[in-house]
Amino acid sequence: MPTIVEEADSAGSSRFPLHFCSNRLLCTFSPADRQLVEAAATAVQLQRGDVLFDAGRDVPATFFPAAGTVVAILVSLLDGRTVEVATIGKEGAVGGIVSGGKAPAFARAVVQIPGAALKVDLKALEDAKARSPHVRDLFCRYADALLAQVMQSVACNAFHALEARCCRWLLTAQDRAGAEDIPLTQEYLAEMLGVQRTTVSAVARTLQEQGLIGYRRGTIRILDRQAAEARACECYQAVERHFREVLPEVKPQKIADSGDVR
Ligand SMILES: [Zn+2]
Repeated sequence: MPTIVEEADSAGSSRFPLHFCSNRLLCTFSPADRQLVEAAATAVQLQRGDVLFDAGRDVPATFFPAAGTVVAILVSLLDGRTVEVATIGKEGAVGGIVSGGKAPAFARAVVQIPGAALKVDLKALEDAKARSPHVRDLFCRYADALLAQVMQSVACNAFHALEARCCRWLLTAQDRAGAEDIPLTQEYLAEMLGVQRTTVSAVARTLQEQGLIGYRRGTIRILDRQAAEARACECYQAVERHFREVLPEVKPQKIADSGDVR
């Protein structure tokens, strides 16, 4: 079950503009669009490992990660193996994107990097889609970008070598987190990539020895981003390019050109 920690809104409604603009989808909402969901929005603090929804369960709400918060969409098999199919940060939303909240979730959404998010009641979001052409159009285009990420992950997981996938994943995580350091353990990285920890440790050691990444106390830093991009499979650029084309006003920022609003 979700273990969401509600964050007390001590500053009252004045906090909402901060949270709306901490998420790049919500930041495109006009004042009138914001009014459609504001009453049904709650600021929450997500902890690492929180399950926002699980496969087969109804999606309770849509979560809009604030800057720095990252959520993974995972698919689990009957034998217990798990692999990540999408990484979502401040450029996106989790849950209720296309289903309208009427269908059970197909996959599991787990908080990867802890932080704040805005939780919006599904019915309010659906009402906003029905009443606002901008909100409807935005979520249609976001669904397209999200589907592209999932489709690319199918090809990536099937055909690409672990080292290239690892570089792709680290670049994506750094973009989504909007920070230089990625606070993740190698155990978690192994789970995201669907491999044994010893396997991912060997790859991480090679990348570390070659000066691409630094690893210390549960934090990974990309030291040579250009080299990491060259070593990553084509999937990183393919997903980023498609996102920029369909959602130019929301495009995920690379850490190098990120001027965050948080
Ligand atoms: Zn790939």
